Amino acid sequence: MNLVLMGPPGAGKGTQAERIVEEHQIPHISTGDMFRQAVEDGTPLGLEAKSFMNQGKLVPDRVTIGIVRDRLGKDDCASGFLLDGFPRTLPQAEALDTLLSEMGKKIDRVVYIDVDEETLISRLTGRRICSQCGTTYHLIFNPPKQEGTCDRCGAHLYQRDDDTEETVANRLKVNAEQTRHLLDYYGNVGNLVQVDGDQPIEQVTTAILQEIRGSAE
Ligand SMILES: [Zn+2]
Repeated sequence: MNLVLMGPPGAGKGTQAERIVEEHQIPHISTGDMFRQAVEDGTPLGLEAKSFMNQGKLVPDRVTIGIVRDRLGKDDCASGFLLDGFPRTLPQAEALDTLLSEMGKKIDRVVYIDVDEETLISRLTGRRICSQCGTTYHLIFNPPKQEGTCDRCGAHLYQRDDDTEETVANRLKVNAEQTRHLLDYYGNVGNLVQVDGDQPIEQVTTAILQEIRGSAE
């Protein structure tokens, strides 16, 4: 079962990824982990990636795709994998298909967790941090007992600049642009399924696993 998991920031991708890989006993391949491993192993591509990252530059697709190829060629991917965070762009998606077909493989399902923008904004702007002790709260998932005040030390809670509605809305807009191209692409390929991510986490998991199972029949 070769899977790609997609979704906007705040869609709960990490949680769902954990559940999918547990159910299907396949490796969870997140872009961040894959890069870290390649750098740690000191592979030629890993070192190349590191030099770009050290300069604060974007790692070029050629290097990223090489690292993906190395990773998918490992033994633990023989019976499947879950890609998370890759591909991010249309050229990456096309390169992935090319490299998989060279390996005699293909993507069985691309799962997109769809969450409406309003929900994402309320999830992504909800973080509050204590100005004294640094304890993190979330207005929806982990609210303080008294609004604006730290449960532990009673100090004032603040919102980071990264978490303001304007910043978050902008991040979502950029992401939506890129995602649209990928959704069109996989829609045409015919392996895309969209799951309603506005439901409770358990139900999202059930829906995803059902869609994946459907593709195996
Ligand atoms: Zn505090």
